[in-house]
Amino acid sequence: MARYEVRTKGLDRTVEKYGPSLGSSARAPTLLWPVEPTCHHGWMTEADTPRLAIIGGGPAGLMAAEAARAIGMEVDLYDAMGSVGRKFLLAGKGGLNLTHAEPMADFVSRFGARQTAISRWLETFDAQALRKWASGLGVETFVGSSGRVFPADMKAAPLLRGWLHRLRESGVGFHMHHRWLGWQRDGVLRFGTPHGECTAKADAVIFALGGASWPQLGSDGAWVDAMQQLGAEVSQLQSANCGFEIPWSEYLIGRFAGAPLKPVIAHWTDRQGIAHARQGEFVLTEYGIEGSLIYAIGAELREQIAANGEAVLTLDLVPGYTQAALAERLAAPRGKHSIGDWLRRRAGLDAYKSALVFERVDKPTLADPVALAAQLKALRLHLRRPRPMAEAISTAGGVQLESLDDALMLRAKPGVFFAGEMLDWEAPTGGYLLTACFASGLIAGRGAARWLEQGGRIISDTDTSGTD
Ligand SMILES: Cc1cc2nc3c(=O)[nH]c(=O)nc-3n(C[C@H](O)[C@H](O)[C@H](O)COP(=O)(O)OP(=O)(O)OC[C@H]3O[C@@H](n4cnc5c(N)ncnc54)[C@H](O)[C@@H]3O)c2cc1C
Repeated sequence: MARYEVRTKGLDRTVEKYGPSLGSSARAPTLLWPVEPTCHHGWMTEADTPRLAIIGGGPAGLMAAEAARAIGMEVDLYDAMGSVGRKFLLAGKGGLNLTHAEPMADFVSRFGARQTAISRWLETFDAQALRKWASGLGVETFVGSSGRVFPADMKAAPLLRGWLHRLRESGVGFHMHHRWLGWQRDGVLRFGTPHGECTAKADAVIFALGGASWPQLGSDGAWVDAMQQLGAEVSQLQSANCGFEIPWSEYLIGRFAGAPLKPVIAHWTDRQGIAHARQGEFVLTEYGIEGSLIYAIGAELREQIAANGEAVLTLDLVPGYTQAALAERLAAPRGKHSIGDWLRRRAGLDAYKSALVFERVDKPTLADPVALAAQLKALRLHLRRPRPMAEAISTAGGVQLESLDDALMLRAKPGVFFAGEMLDWEAPTGGYLLTACFASGLIAGRGAARWLEQGGRIISDTDTSGTD
């Protein structure tokens, strides 16, 4: 499993790559791209050669470009940043988790309420297809012990470099430092560039603008109003795959921020009153908790907080013992052992789990073996709120799939397509995010190319202010 080394307040430890180890100040490596002198893109094209504009050069937009170019479309790809794929490169920093090797039924279940729609995307491009595609770029992949799939060298940069080379060779036009601002009339796109505003004509447009996490890498969610004006229904953007806030004591923050808790079983009750349990691990942070177990159940926790003002997570810190067995073990005479030492010897608790117990359990309970065993098997944490979107690994919400047809074209505005994280779906970490971004990019790219082949041309009566 991919791991980062983390140094937090004197504690050296390793957490899963998605953990809270990357501060939002971490910088993604970039593949540089020159700024071109601009610009009236597409104006010189012969009238009968349809042009496709793709706005957003993350994994979804790049895959859309590849798919449409393979069908013979003239493709221009625009991105607000000076280079494409910045978040993709960041994802590769701690080991690029491209996809997951688990059976398809398990794979699609990770998309929760959207699994039916996304299983159709995966019929077009699934984990196996993604691995084959990477292999076609000279990047072999392997399945880690957790079932997660990584490039052999764990990195994103070689894959992106090879891919961009292939896209350029195939004739995709790249236009960096072009921030989409909105539309003029008649299908004319407006862009802000370092040289001032410019326009581009396009017969169809694919938006792949990403969500709103890590805005310093380009995707800032500023597109919501513009898409609503186009006629798309947009669900509120929210943090996904993020930490949750719990107020801790100064002592716990000072001594144990960054400490991993593993293994634990989290119990929670969903809004229908159904009880759930899941084993995994997470990290104590200075603001609360974060890690793979929390990401996996984050959507449920977020909804509980929205409904009740807080989410309650009940932790079993000692999955190896029943409560009765634990009470019996703790009831043995303690002698001169400290409680911490006793918890380690008799319950197998490490210093980090013990720190959480001392944070939450009062002294009389610590002295009572039966009551203490009950706490160790069911320690309640009250989660106040998710961390801000800017820190999250991904965002939930976005353009609702019901606004789109099977080719991901906006029903209210033929010729406008969408792909990637800006669509309204979410999934935990594990390679599901990238797989769905690639698959939706492929579908939108093919869909737009076929729509253009059949004579479709965008007709714009919209004059929106876009994202500026
Ligand atoms: C730290 C971190 C680690 C991650 N690790 C993994 C992982 O290992 N596996 C995994 O599956 N997922 C991972 N992810 C998630 C994954 O990177 C994203 O889900 C994915 O990049 C989304 O792809 P996208 O193409 O939809 O959008 P993005 O990659 O966000 O790209 C959107 C592009 O649109 C451009 N853009 C935005 N607005 C405009 C505008 N107005 N005009 C022009 N251009 C614009 C942006 O500059 C950007 O280049 C990770 C995310 C983070 C933050």
